Amino acid sequence: MSFISFNLHPRIAAGVKALGYNTPTLIQRQAIPPVLQGHDVMGLAQTGTGKTAAFVLPILDRLMKGPRRTVRALVIAPTRELAEQIHQAIGSMGQQTGLRSTTVYGGVNANPQIQKLRAGVEIVVACPGRLLDHIHQGTINLSHLEVLVLDEADRMFDMGFLPDIRKIIKHVPARRQTLLFSATMPDDIRGLAHEVLRAPVTVQIDPAVPADTVAHALYPVDHHLKTELLLELLRHTDTESVLIFTRTKHRAKRLGQQLERAGYRAASLQGNLSQNRRQAALDGFRDGSYQILVATDIAARGIDVSRISHVINYDMPDTADAYTHRIGRTGRAAKTGDAFTFIVREDEDMVRNIERLLGEKIERRTLKDFDYKKAAPARDTEFARPPRNSQRGRQQNRLEPSRARAVTQQNIRPSGSSEARKTGQGDPPRRPASGNAEVRKPLQRGLAHRRSAHQPSPGSTTDKYRPHRSATGR
Ligand code: AMP
Repeated sequence: MSFISFNLHPRIAAGVKALGYNTPTLIQRQAIPPVLQGHDVMGLAQTGTGKTAAFVLPILDRLMKGPRRTVRALVIAPTRELAEQIHQAIGSMGQQTGLRSTTVYGGVNANPQIQKLRAGVEIVVACPGRLLDHIHQGTINLSHLEVLVLDEADRMFDMGFLPDIRKIIKHVPARRQTLLFSATMPDDIRGLAHEVLRAPVTVQIDPAVPADTVAHALYPVDHHLKTELLLELLRHTDTESVLIFTRTKHRAKRLGQQLERAGYRAASLQGNLSQNRRQAALDGFRDGSYQILVATDIAARGIDVSRISHVINYDMPDTADAYTHRIGRTGRAAKTGDAFTFIVREDEDMVRNIERLLGEKIERRTLKDFDYKKAAPARDTEFARPPRNSQRGRQQNRLEPSRARAVTQQNIRPSGSSEARKTGQGDPPRRPASGNAEVRKPLQRGLAHRRSAHQPSPGSTTDKYRPHRSATGR
């Protein structure tokens, strides 16, 4: 099957060709026809399946006819990064259409957003908080909206955005096409889908299972040896682009610094960064100036770097579902990727959950000449905060940038077939996430009273929100 069978407008087909997409992915094959026909669609699909194009292409097709410079499509996404990615995807696929899109999210000055909205756009990609602010300020007009997309609905629920979404929906026309995408279908999302979708067509792409193109491996190790093991692993692995996950922001920052000191082009992405620095880290990772990005789960949400060759879980994720989300960043769209996970003794339960999700045992690996018996230091200073003026010493310690060595790992076996896999039923409820979401800054002081508990105080650069997940959240 090729994209020709969708009979997309020639200018959109040209965008698809420019992107180098030849064959539609499964979600695209299933979702594009009903969306083109105007149906509501509920898409159960994880990141990395090509779901963005599955809704962007038919929306662009619809917008080719009809008025311009009025908001006709609204995509709501949980994080700024995801919103930017969708906006960029629209720009690439719609490069020859003359259609305009803009992003709307908190943590940045609202005035440029207001100017772009005033100048006239057909598509808005927004995070819920700032969008509500614009609605209340009258700086966005949604009265001509034709298509509403709720992307990563389960993440929005996790982040406490469901009340905001319900408020937004009150401000869009009842007669519209609605598309809802979610990787999982907890009861609350099922309830939301029931409220917002009319006679939806459901398309489902193995929602809880990482792509077949990913090879998984576990590396048992003691806490205090994780960084040494990581450096050894990087030394002996032929990597292109590596995304490393840590449990906390502090660990992400410190590990990023340690990798830099060891000579790698590394950056960290965590909630304490300003929006500009976050974007610089992401752009650098995307264009290859950083080979390694260290991130927490929330900071990494929506990261789409199609050539990520390795995801390394320096710390085990909280749930099997979070594992799937992390791993979803590699092995995308038919490319292969490796997922390495460091495990300490306490992680065994989670390993069992993940193996149940994958429907197979994951290979345990050890590195040949690595000293696993090395004693822990009397006091584990690995993640202690550095003294204030330690920068000078750090500069002196800096090594020459090393090149990733082309020694390919052996015994990398592909994961089993999808038929062999089971769904992640029985996973423990996900721990409430903590970290970054859209920064909520009211457009002006007068709006401060509206801020709900999950919003930070004005001027905050961190993205705090109220964890919303209930024990029955899955
Ligand atoms: P998504 O699930 O939308 O985040 O997409 C995952 C990655 O797959 C992105 O890097 C897309 O550019 C890429 N992609 C989407 N559709 C296709 C396709 N039909 N062929 C090749 N790559 C694709």
